Amino acid sequence: MASTTPAVGIDLGTTYSCVGVWRDDRVEIVANSQGNRTTPSYVAFTNTERLIGDAAKNQVAMNPHNTVFDAKRLIGRKFSDSVVQEDMKHWPFKVIQGPGDKPLIQVEYKYETKTFAPEEISSMVLVAMRDTAQSYLGPSARVSQSVITVPAYFNDSQRQATKDAGSIAGLEVLRIINEPTAAAIAYGLDKKTSADVSGVRHGERHVLIFDLGGGTFDVSLLAIDEGIFEVKATSGDTHLGGEDFDNRMVAHFVQEFKRKHGGKDLSASPRALRRLRTACERAKRVLSSATQTTVELDSLFEGIDFYASITRARFEELCMDLFNKCMEPVEKVIRDSQLDKSAIHDVVLVGGSTRIPKVQQLLQNFFNGKELCKSINPDEAVAYGAAVQAAILTGSGGSKVQDLLLLDVTPLSLGIETAGGIMSVLIPRNTTIPAHREEIFSTYADNQPGVLIQVYEGERARTRDNNLLGKFDLSGIPPAPRGVPKIKVSFDIDANGILHVSAEEQATGTASRITITNDKGRLSAEEIQKLVSDAQKYAQEDEQTRKKVEARNRVEAFLFGLRNKLRSEPGAAERLTPDERHSLDSTLDEAIGWLDHNQLAEAEELEHKQKEVEETLGPILAKLYGGGGAAAGGGATGGGGGGGGAGRGGGGGHPVVEEVD
Ligand code: AMP
Repeated sequence: MASTTPAVGIDLGTTYSCVGVWRDDRVEIVANSQGNRTTPSYVAFTNTERLIGDAAKNQVAMNPHNTVFDAKRLIGRKFSDSVVQEDMKHWPFKVIQGPGDKPLIQVEYKYETKTFAPEEISSMVLVAMRDTAQSYLGPSARVSQSVITVPAYFNDSQRQATKDAGSIAGLEVLRIINEPTAAAIAYGLDKKTSADVSGVRHGERHVLIFDLGGGTFDVSLLAIDEGIFEVKATSGDTHLGGEDFDNRMVAHFVQEFKRKHGGKDLSASPRALRRLRTACERAKRVLSSATQTTVELDSLFEGIDFYASITRARFEELCMDLFNKCMEPVEKVIRDSQLDKSAIHDVVLVGGSTRIPKVQQLLQNFFNGKELCKSINPDEAVAYGAAVQAAILTGSGGSKVQDLLLLDVTPLSLGIETAGGIMSVLIPRNTTIPAHREEIFSTYADNQPGVLIQVYEGERARTRDNNLLGKFDLSGIPPAPRGVPKIKVSFDIDANGILHVSAEEQATGTASRITITNDKGRLSAEEIQKLVSDAQKYAQEDEQTRKKVEARNRVEAFLFGLRNKLRSEPGAAERLTPDERHSLDSTLDEAIGWLDHNQLAEAEELEHKQKEVEETLGPILAKLYGGGGAAAGGGATGGGGGGGGAGRGGGGGHPVVEEVD
């Protein structure tokens, strides 16, 4: 089975996502149905349908309030999180506070107000990525397993929520891995660690991943040693990327327009601004390979055409402060890792904006002329590495990837609160996972009947400065003086970096199985189950919409085809009597009018209408086409279909404490 169901690697990005599969001994990055190798992480809701990817992004201007993007900025966070509150100010879609302080995205869909968890929106993007891979692989291999990447700085809750998104999408998530780790794998940098050509071991290899995308900027410093990836430091800017460069060019042309056209301010028109922004983004891309380009927009504002040119030098000047700003996190991660820049073995470029020559030049100069790793498409490097990892995990990669053992580390220290609000660390940050640690704790008062176990992540000494992951009570401790009872607390982190905690009173063995109450913006197993069935419901609705569109296409092709035949085929109309011609015209007019007035008609109604017309016109059609009915346009059938079954039962829900031993 395993060999016929290759797992896919998915880079679930903030603005774009990308999917790769291992096939014929190499990674194939799969293009979507639009022919694009990356897909916008966008989901849109309209009065008639749900759109995902390019189709959603293309209609954003028409439907801004119901087009959702940036779900990654929400996933695994609480509504009251200051990051969420700040981001919300810039989103055209609405985010509300749900139960347990979870953020929920509110949209109008089919004339109803609907709310969606960020995991649900992400799951819709994941389904689109799965379907992309599925149509590439064909019906003989059903895609059901995946490796999904997350930023290195994602905490436990964000990782778990991403995994949940996979479950909702009906995908078994074999592993969640860090984006910079995936990029390093894509370049095979982990394999370079063990020995050089002469067989001499080098020990640790330091890799700097520079990831500059559309709206986010991440720099990570990894140390790789014998297949173990350690995140030494991360830095960056959550709101810096290609869109900022686009904005600089837009501002420049708004000024130029003013100068050329008597002070007219085109920014007064959102539509003009939007058209200009699209043109600028295109011009920016061109300037990564050409040194000059033009922007040409007919009737941009108040009927005025706008033609202008821009050189690469001018663009660089417009963005220079931003480009320079990109170097600061690079310095910071090196400083934080207590390394010298000469100790960096490799610098890897990730994200579309690293194609900008000036950015590359600044980075290369910083590293004294070092060659940058840029041979893999920067938009695809993360999905590429995820696909390699997926192949290893399913054993479908063959000998090529057999030696690639991937181990990740915990991004933050994990521990519990002890008396006085002190963080007592059980698993220090950068511990290789999976990991298991246990420690004995005790009571702090005589005859204390129970203890409250509070689990935190973070690096600060006091728990109030760290992040509470969950808490639970252990009760039933037999009366004893303080310090006497022995309570064994066990921490288990599985290969996805997800934490299970348990506590056991040693003398009695009480409370061997305990669940951490879920304090974070996470979904419960039941909620996930519900979302899984919702996802299937939406998929069915999408299918119905598709059928409807196909049925409409068929009727229209039939009716207009008939009309065209009459109009353009010499002698066709002459084969009919005046009465027949009249009957044909009025039937066609009536049917076309019916279609116009019944935009929401269901597939069955449309099919019925077509039959009705065919029956009414039977003899006339026979005369026209000489026998059977008219040939209507064939509908697209395509494989895919079916969608995945429910994802693996409840299983991977929120952090459930497991019994130890
Ligand atoms: P990502 O999120 O990594 O796919 O990055 C997308 C960003 O990369 C967008 O802002 C694009 O405008 C930008 N981008 C893509 N190709 C180029 C290019 N050739 N030159 C400059 N920026 C680019």
